[in-house]
Amino acid sequence: MRLDGKRNTVQRKIIFDSLSELDCHATAEQVYAAVVRKHPSISKATVYRNIAQMVEAGELLNIGNFYGAAHYDHHCQKHYHFICEECKLVYDVNVDFPDLSAQLVGMDRFEITGHTLTFSGICPTCKEVTK
Ligand SMILES: [Zn+2]
Ligand SMILES: [Zn+2]
Repeated sequence: MRLDGKRNTVQRKIIFDSLSELDCHATAEQVYAAVVRKHPSISKATVYRNIAQMVEAGELLNIGNFYGAAHYDHHCQKHYHFICEECKLVYDVNVDFPDLSAQLVGMDRFEITGHTLTFSGICPTCKEVTK
């Protein structure tokens, strides 16, 4: 059991480092591609399972599904995102993250665990190209 726990920690560190090196709100598929380049023995199932566990543990943030795949963030403090409709890149948005749950009306019986908000549009790079 101890060995297993240790292996898990090592794998999680590899995954976390890969995600932060990618620094692009990568999908699990992209994380796996980066991990396997350096550690060919790690399986896809292991990467996917660890990502799910890390989200559960609050070590990674699942920022939602865009264009058919969940994207992950190694910055776990709450923040919003902008997604470019052209290149599909996800950018961090620097704006206050309000406690909107305080403004909810008629939801007393619901347990609110969070909210997401994503801005969309065209990023500066894509704007430059289409000009
Ligand atoms: Zn773009
Ligand atoms: Zn982010």
